Amino acid sequence: MPSPAPGDSASTTDRKFPCPSCGAKLDFDPTRRALACPYCGTAQPIVEAEGEVRERDWDEYWRNAEAAEATIAGRSSEVQCRACAAVVLLEDKLVTDKCPYCGDDLENKPVSAHSMIVPEGILPFKVDQKKAVAAFRAWVESRWFAPSDLKKMANLGQLNGIYVPYWTFDSQTATHYTGERGDNYQETETYTEMETTTSTDAQGQTTTSTRPVTKTRTVTKTRWSHARGYVEHPFDDVLICASKSIPVGLIQQLEPWDLPSLEPFQAPFLAGFQTERYSIGLKEGFEKARAIMDGHIRVLCCQDIGGDHQRLHSVNTDHHQISFKHNLHPVWYAPYRYREKVYQIAVNARTGEVVGTRPYSYWKPFLIVLAVLGTIGAIAGIAALVGAVMK
Ligand SMILES: [Zn+2]
Ligand SMILES: [Zn+2]
Repeated sequence: MPSPAPGDSASTTDRKFPCPSCGAKLDFDPTRRALACPYCGTAQPIVEAEGEVRERDWDEYWRNAEAAEATIAGRSSEVQCRACAAVVLLEDKLVTDKCPYCGDDLENKPVSAHSMIVPEGILPFKVDQKKAVAAFRAWVESRWFAPSDLKKMANLGQLNGIYVPYWTFDSQTATHYTGERGDNYQETETYTEMETTTSTDAQGQTTTSTRPVTKTRTVTKTRWSHARGYVEHPFDDVLICASKSIPVGLIQQLEPWDLPSLEPFQAPFLAGFQTERYSIGLKEGFEKARAIMDGHIRVLCCQDIGGDHQRLHSVNTDHHQISFKHNLHPVWYAPYRYREKVYQIAVNARTGEVVGTRPYSYWKPFLIVLAVLGTIGAIAGIAALVGAVMK
């Protein structure tokens, strides 16, 4: 039997988190690790939930998938962005919102949140917006080719705090493979080369003659032999981002995530932040994880074959004891448009690391090249002048 979904317990089913002093909505404050009131300053620290972050058994989940799904407390509705297809889980009573990924207005009507695999684990926001904006500014400043408009934008500090969905997969793998092992050996071979010699006789007459000469050299060759074998490998926490709205190349740059710090999910961590519903489902996520594992298994098979070279003909892997987790990772994110193109900035809200795509300002390096050419020209001119005077 699947245990009750985290975040669904009686204590957290309240639709939002009201301030006990003034009734305003409490938001999660990363610096204090507390639900804090922006008006009266009341803060309620969030204590880490007891127990380990649970991993779900794959087979058990699929035996009764629907019953194992639920909704997240405090996120009773969801809305899909028409532009980038992200499904944003809305905070209760918040009706309209901008898409945190592409900045478009969420024009679709919010609908009741569909049940889903609720998160098992969470990395709570640790870097607050102020620090994220500072990191973002420093990043822009260090980019010499960034256009000045981008620097202006950095000053606006428009960063969205999003919990991005991730899957992790564990699997015990057993692989039978067939292939070939290549062992190098040295061989001495003879070859013929034309050699030209020049000789001078007693009369000072020079003669040049060309004749074939037989030589030897050592060459490396490879002897191939049939190979087959069996490799077992346990995979732990193969990480797959379950969002389709952040470019893959960008989100991967935010790694590594401090997965050992993952803690059991609690809904109050989401208060005041956007949360995306995974758009890469469990099966698709596992396919992606399997591709990563396959690549690693092929390397292990080659190591098992040994020798100097390896070829793999067939690799058949069985996966056992697959388990998975749905986790939320904190990201500060800013989509921005520059001359009709969309770029993104993302900050890992655990480490403060900034990654981004940006337009290049071509005139800046161009002007510098011009300046350098101008200087060279001036020096050449002066040199020519000095040369003329010296004559
Ligand atoms: Zn208050
Ligand atoms: Zn969008």
